[in-house]
Amino acid sequence: MSKCLVTGGAGFIGSHVVDILIENGHEVHVVDDLSTGNLDNLNPKAGFFENDIRDVNIWSLLDDDYDYVFHLAALARIQPSIDNPVQSHEVNLNGTLNVLEYCRKSGAKIIFSSSSSIYAGHPLPTGEGATIDPKNPYALQKYICEQYIELYSKLYDLNYTIFRYFNVFGERQITEGAYSAVVGIFLNQKEKGLPLTITNDGEQRRDFTYVKDVAKANLLAMNWPREVYNIGTGESYSINEIADMVGGEKVYIGERIGEARNTLAKWSKAEHAGWKPTVTIKEWVDDFISR
Ligand code: NAD
Repeated sequence: MSKCLVTGGAGFIGSHVVDILIENGHEVHVVDDLSTGNLDNLNPKAGFFENDIRDVNIWSLLDDDYDYVFHLAALARIQPSIDNPVQSHEVNLNGTLNVLEYCRKSGAKIIFSSSSSIYAGHPLPTGEGATIDPKNPYALQKYICEQYIELYSKLYDLNYTIFRYFNVFGERQITEGAYSAVVGIFLNQKEKGLPLTITNDGEQRRDFTYVKDVAKANLLAMNWPREVYNIGTGESYSINEIADMVGGEKVYIGERIGEARNTLAKWSKAEHAGWKPTVTIKEWVDDFISR
């Protein structure tokens, strides 16, 4: 049994990471300021610190005997980072530096949630060695975090695994507000009898990854080496196709800047390490709609 800290453990993905760690017998504590997370997501067997990762006090108060820090706390969407780059910089970069300092002090391994948004978007499918070209502050911040992690590894022998997730969907996804994403938005609109709002022409394509598969990757990474891994499926769907799966009237709401046209993961590296996706977006949406 290991002692694990999950930042952002009351959020969408983080709460599933907490669940799978607890199911596998680990002791889990969460740091989350509940800015986009929700206590309803939180596993009752997890310890909870309601704190901001930017606050240095929380890091000095924590015991230094954690074996792993799963770092998911972030302002985790592209468009809000374009609207407010300073705020997202403070959380995503300054907050991460506090986490790294804690790991340096305690010797914990960091398992970091980065994003496929750092890639240029070509060639497709995109492997871990593909061109990096962050198109928005969020992506740039994620890439700088990755570079900091690799630097800490060289300077201080920090142990790490970095994940680049491709669009994550599933239970507990945020369905309203600036931090919601397309699948959650569509299901919420459908439930309310509203038209599905589509940006650009809807022909932009995304590789969608199931949240419990992402959580499984985090569990496995406890034994993975100091590497970067894509976590995706190698299949993509256009936003129009996702809207058709959900069903209902579509309305086009204009251009959105700062994002790659298409994403598609090459995930053979994670496969060689023992991970594979198990649920497609089509299966999940069909099942959700039929409930
Ligand atoms: P989320 O917003 O549901 O979760 C983020 C969690 O962090 C929330 O519980 C929030 O309350 C917490 N948080 C935010 N700022 C904080 C702060 N200053 N101090 C403490 N806690 C704070 O988002 P998510 O989709 O679950 O994303 C989790 C991680 O995965 C993020 O790092 C995100 O960048 C990354 N990621 C997500 C996706 C995706 O498709 N959802 C894709 C790539 C990478």
